[in-house]
Amino acid sequence: LQRLRARLARSNTAIGNALLALLSRGGLGEEDWEEVEDTLLASDLGVEATEELVASLRRQVAVDGTSDPVQVKQWLHDDLLALVDPSMDRRIAASRTDGLPAVILVVGVNGTGKTTTVGKLARVLVAEDKDVLLGAADTFRAAAADQLQTWGERVGVPAVRSDQEGADPASVAYEATKAGIEMESDVVIVDTAGRLHTKRGLMDELGKIKRVVEKLAPVGEVLLVLDATTGQNGMRQAEEFAREVAITGIVLTKMDGTAKGGIVVNVQRKLGVPVKLIGLGEGPDDLAPFDPEAFVSAIVG
Ligand code: GDP
Repeated sequence: LQRLRARLARSNTAIGNALLALLSRGGLGEEDWEEVEDTLLASDLGVEATEELVASLRRQVAVDGTSDPVQVKQWLHDDLLALVDPSMDRRIAASRTDGLPAVILVVGVNGTGKTTTVGKLARVLVAEDKDVLLGAADTFRAAAADQLQTWGERVGVPAVRSDQEGADPASVAYEATKAGIEMESDVVIVDTAGRLHTKRGLMDELGKIKRVVEKLAPVGEVLLVLDATTGQNGMRQAEEFAREVAITGIVLTKMDGTAKGGIVVNVQRKLGVPVKLIGLGEGPDDLAPFDPEAFVSAIVG
């Protein structure tokens, strides 16, 4: 976890340093505040949150009349933390209820890191002593089931797949859930397809997967995987998914390669659901629970 924190800090301190340098300058003029705004916007915090944050900082600087770096840093820290909203419930529902496994559906556009996230999440849950089973319902992409199976072997958990390319994803999800019930798994994680060129088809398919699975066991989580480096484009995708399926949490991947950590705040506000996990690399251990305090500290230092 320490290592992951360091990785997050590396990509985000640039923005924190720029802000603190500006804010500690003293006698801030209009152009300085604009620069603060630009820096925040560059982190993908979004227009609304940026305006709120700048207004709050301006107020505090005006009232206090100080530009003491320690004080400014504290304000920035507290305001950012409030925006990230530590009160949101970020736990992953992964326990059996009424003798049935919890099912987690993982959705998102191809290339965002969906399959990798399923593998990494399995590892996190196995480390918590959970019995995990994977379902490869991304039957559209030929390599996806192989990729998931490899993750399963790596993490030491079984994977249910269809050997038929183009098989019905809902039926694979159903079979995986059935296997999870028979094996008395704690949790079944289902990887889904994310092709975008037939959007209607994709959304219908996700709805069908959920309905079919729910005939057997409750779907405890629908996690939306988003690539943190894709900015506005990613935000639009997120909103489209959220309109069609009830998302319970967001996974932001590739946070290791971007200083655009502000997207956490932006996406939470737009979707009204918490960021629960962040991806910080391609390796099996590079997934961490999203910790608001650690995140803000990584930015502000
Ligand atoms: P899918 O099409 O959404 O299932 O995406 P994949 O799981 O196949 O991942 C696409 C690429 O993103 C792969 O090369 C992954 O290794 C990479 N990837 C996934 N998560 C992360 C992350 O958190 N950080 C980095 N740097 N790369 C990631």
